[in-house]
Amino acid sequence: MSSTYRAIEVSRPGQFSEVSRPFLDPGPGQVRIRVEACGVCHSDSGTVEGLFPIDWPRVPGHEVVGRIDALGSDVQGWAVGQRVGVGFLGGSCSYCEFCRNGDLVNCRNQEYTGIHSDGGYAEVMIAKAGGLVRIPDDLSSADAAPLLCAGLTTFNALRNAPAKAGDLVAVLGIGGLGHLAVQYARHMGFEVAAIARGTGTAELAKKLGAHHFIDSAATDPAAALQALGGAKVILITASGGKTVAATFKGLRPGGASINLGVGPEPIEITSPDLIFGERKVAGSLTGNPATGDTTLRFSALTGVSAMIETVPLQEAAAAYAKMMAGKARFRIVLVRNSGAG
Ligand SMILES: [Zn+2]
Ligand SMILES: [Zn+2]
Repeated sequence: MSSTYRAIEVSRPGQFSEVSRPFLDPGPGQVRIRVEACGVCHSDSGTVEGLFPIDWPRVPGHEVVGRIDALGSDVQGWAVGQRVGVGFLGGSCSYCEFCRNGDLVNCRNQEYTGIHSDGGYAEVMIAKAGGLVRIPDDLSSADAAPLLCAGLTTFNALRNAPAKAGDLVAVLGIGGLGHLAVQYARHMGFEVAAIARGTGTAELAKKLGAHHFIDSAATDPAAALQALGGAKVILITASGGKTVAATFKGLRPGGASINLGVGPEPIEITSPDLIFGERKVAGSLTGNPATGDTTLRFSALTGVSAMIETVPLQEAAAAYAKMMAGKARFRIVLVRNSGAG
């Protein structure tokens, strides 16, 4: 067995390089994973563009699936040979106020995979056991990878949303997150409206399970939602404060606009629109590891899957550039070789 492995690291903003690294043993509470697949996510830009403070060089990637090949000391509940996933949240501390209250997502000491520690654009990675997700046997590693961030994020937001079966739920944006959100919303029993600019994704949205398609370039999306009775939830998967504001009046009283798309633009909403109808604007951050397990199991049970394109690990820089240019349809997954699954 080789004593080194291949990794794609970022040595300074925008600069990818393929390097050979020596194997390291996992520390206490950690596992070492032979990576089989890693999704390319827009949040990887936090590392690649240096939007977070990064201790260079850093290996990006937080939609990782692989097999455990070594356990650190004090690791319980996981076994060598087991296939596991690692998402954006690297694992909670278990001692801060939020952890002790059961809110693992908002742990004060959580590291972000691929940002504070090396991620999955590599053949091997070290991960904290507390953040691992179980991968159902009937999902391939490449199919499972995007579900660890794009899937968990949309599934968790919808699962915790104030909507019940039969309620109208709108999904704004039919891209990497949106095309999964439409499927989850349909399988959770909601009446689903997809909203996007132009009609390019109309047919796809219907095929994925949307009952309605609203072209926000041709019609006022808020009025269109009100014509359907008003949405209980609008899940915002695109970034852009103006887009959020333009749909907000499409909420019925008690409804919530839940934001997943990150962007610098402020969301301008008037207080009467919040108060009269008691509407809410909220954010949602991925999900805890148990919800990660549920996301993957639910996906396997219902047949929800991301539309993916697999690319060999060595071509990570090109894959990242394609994703940033908005040309991925809809998620790119790096694999150890182009045929791996
Ligand atoms: Zn992500
Ligand atoms: Zn904590």
